[in-house]
Amino acid sequence: MNRRVDAVQALARFLSQRAELSEADLYLAGLSREEALELACAAARPVDGGDGRQQRAVAAEAGADVSAAPAPEPAPNPREVLLPEGYEELRQAALACTRCRLAEGRTPVVFADGNPDARVMVVGEAPGANEDATGLPFVGAAGQFLDLLLATVGLSRRENVYIANVLKCRPPGNRDPLPDEIEACAPFLHRQIDLVRPEALLAVGSFAARLLTGREKSALGRLRGTVHSYRGIPLVVTYHPAALLRNPKWIRPFWDDLQLLTRILDA
Ligand code: SF4
Repeated sequence: MNRRVDAVQALARFLSQRAELSEADLYLAGLSREEALELACAAARPVDGGDGRQQRAVAAEAGADVSAAPAPEPAPNPREVLLPEGYEELRQAALACTRCRLAEGRTPVVFADGNPDARVMVVGEAPGANEDATGLPFVGAAGQFLDLLLATVGLSRRENVYIANVLKCRPPGNRDPLPDEIEACAPFLHRQIDLVRPEALLAVGSFAARLLTGREKSALGRLRGTVHSYRGIPLVVTYHPAALLRNPKWIRPFWDDLQLLTRILDA
């Protein structure tokens, strides 16, 4: 049994014990920063390489809300009509894409990971250094921590989770995605969601949350705690796992959001 499986099982046992003790309010809030980081590091394969993504994710999560007004569901982007209808054709189109400047600096296009027949689709921000090196989303320490947390509620990218990002190519230096890059790349994501048609969506981080809710100026904190709708699919918004590694105080809210997600799946 490898270290990652050990770590997942350790956290699962921890949570099960809390639940058996009726300590539903404790859960992951009971993990110290060291415990959470130790589990994440034990689960990690390559680490993030100090590329700055964690710090940037934290800063994005902490942004101020400038508009709390409810927004309509995002309208389909007209550029979507240019994309193929089938999943494999869509994937091939993305792998060859040169729609935006990010094509120049990427290694591979990072299209997705997980089961295209998933119950849950997780949407993140953009590839980082590890993702650019492997061609898979969420493979650094933050991704391993995400896997670990999802496993505690019976979700796994091997079985019932599909993961993709707003951007399919790594921004240089892991800077924030630019609006025109999101506009160029988002049609791939919208079509992916249409094809996977999950029972629920989990947007992690501000960029995914704002894109899928259509509330582009709202702080993440204002978007959490409620079930949105993306073209009729229930959508839960939460923190990026990189932010959790940086600020363990957000693990508890993340856990609350996972509970909201599981209630949707159980309904
Ligand atoms: S980020 Fe998206 S739109 Fe830009 S080149 Fe990559 S796949 Fe194409």
